[in-house]
Amino acid sequence: MDRDGFCRALLAWYDREKRELPWRGTQDPYRVWLSEIMLQQTRAEAVAPRYEAFLTRFPTVAALAAADEEAVLKAWEGMGYYSRARNLRRAAMEVVRRGGFPRSAKEWQKLPGVGAYTAAAVASIAYHEAAPALDGNQARVLSRLLAFEGTVDTPQRLRAQAEALIDRERPGDYNQALMDLGSGVCTPRAPKCGLCPVAAFCAARAGGDAESYPHLPPPIARREVEVTVVLAYLGGRVLVRRRPSKGLLAGLWEFPNFSEGTLEDTLPGARATGELARSRHVFTHLVWNMRGLRAEAEALPEGMRAVDADELRALPFPTALRVYRQIAMRELGGEAEKDV
Ligand code: SF4
Repeated sequence: MDRDGFCRALLAWYDREKRELPWRGTQDPYRVWLSEIMLQQTRAEAVAPRYEAFLTRFPTVAALAAADEEAVLKAWEGMGYYSRARNLRRAAMEVVRRGGFPRSAKEWQKLPGVGAYTAAAVASIAYHEAAPALDGNQARVLSRLLAFEGTVDTPQRLRAQAEALIDRERPGDYNQALMDLGSGVCTPRAPKCGLCPVAAFCAARAGGDAESYPHLPPPIARREVEVTVVLAYLGGRVLVRRRPSKGLLAGLWEFPNFSEGTLEDTLPGARATGELARSRHVFTHLVWNMRGLRAEAEALPEGMRAVDADELRALPFPTALRVYRQIAMRELGGEAEKDV
């Protein structure tokens, strides 16, 4: 592959066609870092309005470091993968403690929640380090460009090739160009090779089988769990509890629920008064198949709170329970939140 020609074609296309996104053009490490954390599991179009709102709430790394965890989780609500928000705050505290941001990808990786991809993205954009931001997106594009025959079970399989290709003058723009190419042109299904600015350099296209790359291992099996979610009312309020500080959805609030046992085990003395909607939520390794139950509680169980609509709206709640929170908001006489 003619690396210089490839980089020239890619960057010329990026200069013409790059997506207008609120974090494009900035080299402020706080803003670049925040955008990369938000983009880890979420599409750019969904991130854009949340990115601006988060920056309004926490405009500097010092403001984020000084915030309490619940406020940060609240600002993150609806984005899912809440460990990102917890790590972001912990990393902000570390940055403030050490008196500034790290300046190399290697140092960035020492912060909580910053893996090889994010470290490379931030170091290349904010500090012009020639570090390839190798995620699934970039790995797919590279495996097609090079007709890579190995199994790409992790993007790191392509690290040596990625390091050989990256543009040394404009590594941040190069990484962002590959992000844009992977999201709009070299898509997982039906890549638009006819519109591709680097088609002339692409081995998979030359072989006529672009879509067969990357070669992936079989998908992971997700465990399916039946969960009963209880909207238990007590004196015009609904019962909620906080999840443990470690594990799935750590530290978020939820309605009492159970996957084994009975309503009586979870809420002694409560009386079921009706069935509610079913809902399904897919986590990385787990699926919750949820059924809703309305109930009248007899007393406030230890470790729970009874909240009204305003309090419920203010608590950080997992996206997985959004359907039930909408129902509770309506039944408590509050305004249901818009889906985001
Ligand atoms: Fe992807 Fe097709 Fe471009 Fe190759 S030519 S990089 S397969 S879009």
